[in-house]
Amino acid sequence: MMLATARRELLTRPVLSLVQSAMPRLSATESEAIDAGDTWWDAALFTGNPDWDTLLAIPPAQLTDEERTFLHGPVETLCGMIDDWRMTWETHDLSPDVWEYLKREKFFGIIIPKKFGGLGFSNFAHSEIVRKIATRSVSAAVTAMVPNSLGPGELMIRFGTKAQQDYWLPRLADGREIPAFGLTSAQAGSDAAAMVDEGIVCKGEWQGRPVTGIRLNWHKRYITLGPVATILGLAFKLRDPDRLLGGEEDRGITLALVSTDLPGVEIGRRHIPSMQSFQNGPNAGRDVFVPLDNIIGGPERAGQGWQMLMSALAAGRGISLPSLSAAAGAFAAHTTGAYARIRSQFNLPIGKFEGIQERIARIAGNAYLLDGARRLTCAGLDQGHHPAVIASIMKLHATERMRTVINDAMDVHGGKAVIEGPNNYLGNHYRAIPVGITVEGANILTRSLMVFGQGAIRSHPYLLDEIRAVGTDERGQALADFDAVLWKHVGHALKTAMRAFARGWTAGLFAPAPNAGRATRFYRQMSRYAAAFAFTSDIAFLTLGGELKRCELLSARLGDILSELYLLSGALKRWEDEGRQDEDFPLLAWCMESGFATIEQRFVEIIANFPARPVGWMLRLFILPYGRRRHGPSDRIIRQCAEIVTEPCAARERLIDNVFIGGPDEPVAQLTEAFRLMVDTQPIHDRLRKAKVKDWKAARDRGLISDAEMAQLASADEAVAQVIAVDDFSPEELADRAKPPLAHAAE
Ligand SMILES: Cc1cc2nc3c(=O)[nH]c(=O)nc-3n(C[C@H](O)[C@H](O)[C@H](O)COP(=O)(O)OP(=O)(O)OC[C@H]3O[C@@H](n4cnc5c(N)ncnc54)[C@H](O)[C@@H]3O)c2cc1C
Repeated sequence: MMLATARRELLTRPVLSLVQSAMPRLSATESEAIDAGDTWWDAALFTGNPDWDTLLAIPPAQLTDEERTFLHGPVETLCGMIDDWRMTWETHDLSPDVWEYLKREKFFGIIIPKKFGGLGFSNFAHSEIVRKIATRSVSAAVTAMVPNSLGPGELMIRFGTKAQQDYWLPRLADGREIPAFGLTSAQAGSDAAAMVDEGIVCKGEWQGRPVTGIRLNWHKRYITLGPVATILGLAFKLRDPDRLLGGEEDRGITLALVSTDLPGVEIGRRHIPSMQSFQNGPNAGRDVFVPLDNIIGGPERAGQGWQMLMSALAAGRGISLPSLSAAAGAFAAHTTGAYARIRSQFNLPIGKFEGIQERIARIAGNAYLLDGARRLTCAGLDQGHHPAVIASIMKLHATERMRTVINDAMDVHGGKAVIEGPNNYLGNHYRAIPVGITVEGANILTRSLMVFGQGAIRSHPYLLDEIRAVGTDERGQALADFDAVLWKHVGHALKTAMRAFARGWTAGLFAPAPNAGRATRFYRQMSRYAAAFAFTSDIAFLTLGGELKRCELLSARLGDILSELYLLSGALKRWEDEGRQDEDFPLLAWCMESGFATIEQRFVEIIANFPARPVGWMLRLFILPYGRRRHGPSDRIIRQCAEIVTEPCAARERLIDNVFIGGPDEPVAQLTEAFRLMVDTQPIHDRLRKAKVKDWKAARDRGLISDAEMAQLASADEAVAQVIAVDDFSPEELADRAKPPLAHAAE
C-alpha cells in the first residue's frame, strides 16, 4: 500500500505533469470518432503478440440457403438485365426496368430487418451481392449499395425512433422511398465537420399545426442517389439561438430526415462522376422547415450526428467499397488470365512471357488477398463487431489494390482494353477507380490520419485510457486513473521490447505460430513483425507524444504495417478456412512475401526518417538487425501464380467464384468460351508444333490431325478472333453521340 502511494507520488505524478504539458487534449469530434465502433483483431495485432488460435477459431463468413438462393436468382437476373455500355454512353442511368427490378426484389432493403419488410441478410450476404453486381457494372453496384450502407436506412436501424423505423424502413425496403445521405459540401469535404450547412431551432407550422422545428439551409454536392432521392439524411450544424431546447446555443452536428418534396428543397441536377452512370449530384435547401421529430433518433439525439455517422461508417466502410474491390480482383483475374491465354504474339500466348506473368501474378495474388480480408471482415461484422480501424484499413487498401489490379488488367489487355465500345469489358472498371479512392474518406487522408492516427489510440491496449486519464479535469482522479494504467503500459512496453528484440535477432524462427502445415513459417514472421510494430508504436508515442498526430508520413507508414498485418491475417485465415488447398499455396505465398517486403520496407523508411536519429538507430538494432531481407515473391512463385489464372484449375475457380459471365452474346462469356476452346485444342497445337507443321490442311493430309480436330481448331480460332476484335464507329455514329450538355455555371 505504502509502496503504491510512493510510486504514485514520486513517479507517476511527475510523468503525468510531463504528459499533460506535452499532449494536446482530444477535440470533441476526435473523441466522438474514437468512441464510434469498437476494436477487434486490430487490437490483437496491436498487443504485439496476437493469439493465432483466436483468429483461426473465428467462424468463417457463410451464406444461408435463402441468401444463396437470392445470389443465384435475383442477383444473377439483375446482372443479365444491365447494359453498361448503353448506360454509360447513351442513357446515363439504369434502365427503368432495372430500377423497377431493384425495388421489387428489395435490393434497397438488403440490410433492413425482415420485420420491417426488408431481406434481413447478413453483412457477408450484403457483401456477396454487391461483389457479384460489381463484376457486371460498378454503377449498378453503387446504386444497390448506397441505400444499404450510408443511406439513412442504416442510421435509422441503429438510432431511429420506433415511429421513424415503423414508417420509413418498410418504405425504404420496397423502394417506395429512395434514400441519399447528404454530408459533403463545397467548403467541407474531408473535413466534413467544418460544414456550414445550418439548422435553426424555431417555431413553425407542420401539416397545419404549430410545432417547434428546424429551419434548414444547406448546399451539398457529390450526393449519390441525390438527384432521384425522395428522402435525404441530412447532416447540418444545429443552432438554438432562442434556447427552445434548453441548454447551449450551438448544439453541434445533427442528422435529420428531409423529404425532397418539401418547399425549398432544390434537387435533380446531376454530376457525372468519372463517366459512371449512377445518380450523383448537388442539392440545396432554402428555409426548409421540418419538425424536431425528424431528427434521426428524435430530439434527444440533437447534436449527436457526428458520433452516429462515424459509428455507421465504422461498419459500412468495411463492406461496400471492399466488396467492389474484391469484385475487381476476381473479374481482373478471370478476364486477364483468360485473355493472356488466348492472345498470342511472337507465336506464343502472351501469358507465357515473364513480363506478363509478373502482372498476372499480382492480379491473382491481390484477388486472393482482397477476398480473404473481405471475408474475415464480414465474419467480424456478423459477430456484431463494428471495428472502425479495420473498416478504414479495408476501405483504403481494398480500393488501392483495386487500382493496382485494374491497371495491370488494362496493361495486359493492351489496345483491346483501351478502345471503347460494347466489347470493352474493362473500361468502366478503370474509370470507376477514382470514385472508390475518393469516397467514404479519401485515401490519402485515411492513410495519413485514420488508420494509425486513430487506430493507435483505440486499438492500443493502454493508450486511450492514458489519454482519458490525462484529460480528466479533477487532478486527484487524473493521477489515480493515470497511475492505474501507466505501470501496466510500462510492463507491456518492456515485454514488447524484449519480444521485438528476441524475434528480430532470431529472424522470427522461434516466434509463436499455430500448427498450420506449410503456412506455419508465415505465422512466425507475422508474430515477429507484430512485435516489431508494437514496439515501434510505443517508441513513437514515448518520444513524439501528441506531435505524432502531425507526423503524417510516420503515421502513414506505421498504418501500412498494421494494414499489412491485418490483410495477411485475412489471407492466412482464408487458406485455413478453405481447407489448406495445396493448389492455392502459391497465391498465399505471393500475398505473404509481398506483404512482408512492404512491412520491411516501411520499417526501413521509419528507421531512416525517425525524427530523433539515435532512436532510429536503436529501432534498427531491435527490429531489423540484419537489414531488409524480404524482397517480394520469388520468380518461381510469380510463374506458379500466373499459371493458376491462365490454365483451368480448381484454384482458378476458387479465385473467380461468383463472377458474372452472362449469355453467349456477352463479351465476357465469349472470352470464357474462347479460353475453354483454346485450352481444349492445346494438345492438337502441341502435336502440330512438334511435327513442325503450321498448315492444318497439310497436317490433316499427313494424318496428323482428324477432320473433327481441324474443325475444333477452326472454331477456337474463330472464337479468339471474336474476342480480340474491338469496336469502331462511323463518323456519323459519333456525331450522333456527341451531344454535350449545354455549358452551365459549375456548382
Ligand atoms: C462519386 C462521389 C460520390 C460521393 N457520394 C457522397 C454521398 O453520397 N454523400 C456525401 O455526403 N458525400 C459524398 N461524396 C463526397 C466524398 O465523401 C468526398 O469527396 C470526400 O470526403 C473528399 O472530399 P473532397 O472531394 O472535397 O476532397 P478534399 O477534402 O478537398 O481533399 C482533397 C485531397 O486532400 C486529401 N486530404 C485532405 N485532408 C488531408 C489531411 N489532413 N492529410 C492528408 N491528406 C488530406 C484528401 O485525401 C484528398 O486526396 C462523394 C464523392 C464522390 C466523388
